[in-house]
Amino acid sequence: MASFLNKVGYLSKLLPRQECLNHRRRYGLKSPLCYDIAVIGGGIVGSASARELALRHPTLKIALLEKENCFAFHQSGNNSGVIHAGIYYKPGSLKAKLCVEGLNLSYKYLDKKGIKYSKCGKLIVATNRAEVPRLLDLYDRGLQNGVKDIQLLDAKEIKEAEPNVNGIQAVWSPHTGIVDWGEVTRSYVKDFEQCGGKSYLTFDVTSFIEGDNSEYPVVISDKKENTIQAKYVLTCCGLHSDTVAVLTGCPEEPKIIPFRGEYLYLSPQKSTLAKANIYPVPDPRFPFLGVHLTPRIDGRVIVGPNAILAFSKEGYRWGNVSVKELREILAFSGFQKMALKYAGFGLKEMSRSIFIPLQVKQIQKYIQNITSNDVERGPAGVRAQAMGKDGTLIEDFVFDSKPGSGAIGSRVLHCRNAPSPGATSSLAIAKMIADKMKDEFRF
Ligand SMILES: Cc1cc2nc3c(=O)[nH]c(=O)nc-3n(C[C@H](O)[C@H](O)[C@H](O)COP(=O)(O)OP(=O)(O)OC[C@H]3O[C@@H](n4cnc5c(N)ncnc54)[C@H](O)[C@@H]3O)c2cc1C
Repeated sequence: MASFLNKVGYLSKLLPRQECLNHRRRYGLKSPLCYDIAVIGGGIVGSASARELALRHPTLKIALLEKENCFAFHQSGNNSGVIHAGIYYKPGSLKAKLCVEGLNLSYKYLDKKGIKYSKCGKLIVATNRAEVPRLLDLYDRGLQNGVKDIQLLDAKEIKEAEPNVNGIQAVWSPHTGIVDWGEVTRSYVKDFEQCGGKSYLTFDVTSFIEGDNSEYPVVISDKKENTIQAKYVLTCCGLHSDTVAVLTGCPEEPKIIPFRGEYLYLSPQKSTLAKANIYPVPDPRFPFLGVHLTPRIDGRVIVGPNAILAFSKEGYRWGNVSVKELREILAFSGFQKMALKYAGFGLKEMSRSIFIPLQVKQIQKYIQNITSNDVERGPAGVRAQAMGKDGTLIEDFVFDSKPGSGAIGSRVLHCRNAPSPGATSSLAIAKMIADKMKDEFRF
């Protein structure tokens, strides 16, 4: 707080004295700072976008506001750490386009910055005949999406590539990799700051109001009544993207439903069972990729994630319950429809969360040599799953520039849905967002 208040001195250099006094009178002692663009949300999408905007527009003053006391605290720092190649996504979708572009941009970026990664590849394994048509469909999608060098392997070739993996057919993706996306996020923030951008931690945005400074009309306040004024705003708030959009007069839908994904750690003795990422053929009814085995850049191997309703937006554990958020989720007609449709699946996922052997059973389908004694409970992430009123799970990225009400709405762009592979796609998303902001706001 002290450091924030110290910036009042800095403020007087930015604003003419009278304007500064007017603002202090209106908003109190914690006088606002003025920025051309305020980016809200210091996950990988907000940080990449702030970086891209700062690189493209060196003369603009840009702020990055994050509610936690560090960057990448939520989805961007709690995920599988996979650099996806772009196989799964519907051809022509934003996900397909931005993932393929994002993978290439990511590898170039990681090389340039010397960030540790491994291009260890990925096997998507069909373990029974029923899965083969879906696997072939995925292969076809991969080709249509322009994923480079993917191959179909038969049972013998699977064994040659990964001797401990059983399957009857597989798709091999050599350019899939692993990285710590949290580290990448922090590197984006560093670039942003080096370009003159200013980042604020513990700035939990709670309101947007229209101020009387016509040049910087959007007044953004946080829980502690600190304020920042901006000409234009980009929000990339992940799990809170719906509530933050509502603050600017936008509709609540798509609503964010939090789904926790829990991982197990594989014991060090079994960590050499596979070199690559080993994935199942996903169930097409769900936007999740299924329980997979993933080597991490820190040397550990994780198995997961499952997908269970979290009892709060930041519900990393069963005990993290927010009565208010849970009540809102349960009252949402889209959630009720989805819950009815997938009640059986939901209950199974919950039992797999409680009883580790049930989760291990899923991985035993393709690696038999793993037992419950080889795993222990590991980390968890919470997915921000966007959902429509009719209960549909929204799969593609959604960047909503439909103006909310009044002058504020027309100055804000919301990133409303950036699910997996949002981390892989982050640099491509950032380019798209920067183009969109330039077109719409004409700066
Ligand atoms: C379990 C799991 C596994 C995944 N695996 C992969 C993978 O292997 N590869 C891949 O590419 N992608 C993966 N993803 C997806 C990827 O992690 C996300 O797409 C990406 O992190 C989204 O980034 P974000 O910046 O939109 O969201 P977040 O990282 O959630 O960031 C949003 C930020 O906004 C901040 N915020 C929210 N409200 C406010 C407010 N009012 N004021 C200020 N700040 C606010 C939050 O504190 C947060 O830091 C996975 C996701 C999960 C959950």
